[in-house]
Amino acid sequence: SVKTRFAPSPTGYLHVGGARTALYSWLHAKANDGKFVLRIEDTDLERSTPEAVEAIMDGMRWLELDWNEGPIFQTHRFDRYKEVIQQLVDENKAYPCFCSKQRLDDLREQQMADKQKPRYDGKCRNLNADEIDLEQDHVIRFKNPEEGAVTFKDVVKGEITISNQELDDLIIARTDGSPTYNFTVVVDDWDMGITQVVRGDDHINNTPRQINIFKALNAQVPEFGHVPMILGDDGKKLSKRHGAVSVMQYRDDGYLPQAVLNYLVRLGWSHGDQEIFSVEQMIELFDINNINKAPSAFNTQKLNWLNQQYIKSLPVEEILPHLNWHLEQEGLSLEGGPDIAELIPEFAERVQTLKDLVAAIKPYYSNFDKFDEKAAKKHLRPVARQPLELVEQKLRALDNWQPDAIQQVINETVEELEVGMGKVGMPLRVAVTGAGMSPALDVTLNWIGQSRCLQRIQMALE
Ligand code: GLU
Repeated sequence: SVKTRFAPSPTGYLHVGGARTALYSWLHAKANDGKFVLRIEDTDLERSTPEAVEAIMDGMRWLELDWNEGPIFQTHRFDRYKEVIQQLVDENKAYPCFCSKQRLDDLREQQMADKQKPRYDGKCRNLNADEIDLEQDHVIRFKNPEEGAVTFKDVVKGEITISNQELDDLIIARTDGSPTYNFTVVVDDWDMGITQVVRGDDHINNTPRQINIFKALNAQVPEFGHVPMILGDDGKKLSKRHGAVSVMQYRDDGYLPQAVLNYLVRLGWSHGDQEIFSVEQMIELFDINNINKAPSAFNTQKLNWLNQQYIKSLPVEEILPHLNWHLEQEGLSLEGGPDIAELIPEFAERVQTLKDLVAAIKPYYSNFDKFDEKAAKKHLRPVARQPLELVEQKLRALDNWQPDAIQQVINETVEELEVGMGKVGMPLRVAVTGAGMSPALDVTLNWIGQSRCLQRIQMALE
């Protein structure tokens, strides 16, 4: 049965490239009733931090990429790695190497001078028993086959063949006995029964080496899919220079996880010209065999567009938890204000992020203490005093605070003063919302409520 994994090294936050790899692995597992494992590759003790583990899991939780097993920490598995190293040594598939750093440096230098690819020359590969003194400093090297080639069919890149002569005897245990990266990955994928490995194509050169270790262990070799990297809009490798790269930054900036997932799935995969995919549709349609070979470029405009589509179309209950998070950041509450389900469709046309949405709906849920400067300068001039005073009087007298009654009051004011609609409407709009833009005045005033509207018109008249 299918089992995939996401195996981040906890050295920073969950970035968009990692999130996309995680999503592809997760989708493949979901689509095949399989399992998805979260494995934390924390053997680099210098660079791994518990904060990064938390940050990565926070990102996955926000995207709702749930895992069936884990988090499994590689640092908890050192005994197991030692055991497998010993097994390989016992089976003569790995050996202790006593070459000094000096010798290896000289060898490398010589090979470079001879225009050869630097590789270990196998000096310790066939030592006699009397030449081996395990009391001396040594590493353990894997006996890579000397003949033949490694061939695998990458689900993204197609068939790849590397001659074994290109590969040397990889160190699998350092002098202090600690296992090395390429080795722990294989032991883990083997022990966990991983069937498909989806990862960034920066790992593709490791794969033939890893396959040889799988074979030496008589382990089933998983399928591999190496996903091309994500580029910035300038064609360079995506980095902080291009703006947000941490998944949680997208939350902070007002994106919905549904939109981010949709964006990520499309970044390197397509299904005809369909742009919008619910998670259920992704599970149904995503196929790891259809991942693009070419790198994809990050496109913030597209993400913004998608986010807006989701704000427009998701049921309000699905938006609310995310919106509430942003409201909390702003110290705002929906309590006592108009029904948010009415406001969202009205504002979704104008905003692309939840952050902008919060800014737009703010005057409907809380008071402000100053008017937008530009709008006030334009519309709250002395000539606005008369229309504002008159409309205030009429609104105060209104005992049925409904949109049609409010509209009627505005119309009457316009008629009495014999001015254009804008001469009444604009000052009124700026007075009650603080800004020069809002939905239709009748609903706007209705949402804000009578007492708040009157109070704000007073404030504009001061
Ligand atoms: N730990 C590796 C990384 O963060 C991933 C290795 C793998 O997926 O095999 O890049």
